[in-house]
Amino acid sequence: MTRAMLAGVVLLTAFAAGCATNPATGRSQLNVITTPQEIAMGRNIDAQVRRQYAVVTGNQQADRIERIGAKIAEASDRPGIQHHFALLESDDVNAFAAPGGFIYVTTALVGIVENDAELAGVIGHEVGHVSAFHSVRQMQQHLGYSILRDLVFDKDDGKAAGAADIAFNAIIMTGFSRRDEYQADELGVKYAAGAGYDPYGLANFFVKLQQREQEGIFDKAFEIVMSHPITSQRRRRVEGYAAKYAAGKR
Ligand SMILES: [Zn+2]
Repeated sequence: MTRAMLAGVVLLTAFAAGCATNPATGRSQLNVITTPQEIAMGRNIDAQVRRQYAVVTGNQQADRIERIGAKIAEASDRPGIQHHFALLESDDVNAFAAPGGFIYVTTALVGIVENDAELAGVIGHEVGHVSAFHSVRQMQQHLGYSILRDLVFDKDDGKAAGAADIAFNAIIMTGFSRRDEYQADELGVKYAAGAGYDPYGLANFFVKLQQREQEGIFDKAFEIVMSHPITSQRRRRVEGYAAKYAAGKR
């Protein structure tokens, strides 16, 4: 066995595959990356996000994101992992998630929401991508093995930073499947309702995005709308989820 082969065996052991039940979907799935590895991955991507954006801290809006985020995380399907919520200084209306519970909302997005319920719906959608393991799966699907390895096994040789740059671009550029988006929409509504917010918040936010589209403002960078414009069909689905969870709550 060559050294390279031996290294491969060691790495395969490190990525020991296991079958587990997805807490958000209830389906069994193959988890190639363990939760501690997923969190290590998220930490490296978080460092990259902080190299690219100014993070707003210590003001009312930053506190608001953290306060709503903490409630949503508690109501999520993975309350055991420590979630992190950051407000990023940006003119793009945007929100996105990295594996391991790292959630980002931009100042431009906060600028167009009317209330906490809309923000709770958006944050819930992003937390949903983490709870349903969409984020970690996105990394597994779009990054090569050596990039994943560098991202998970943080070394002090600069490899993790390079891998995090590629991973962050994958988050921004590739997006999720339509099925994952619908699922994150439903989980977002569920978590917002569970945290005590009006479950129609996400639907109201979608109405606002549709109005912006009609005015010729397209928020292409927005993770939620990037690959799938807010169609009336999607909005109606979200209203259906809201009716379901509003009824379940009372
Ligand atoms: Zn999404």
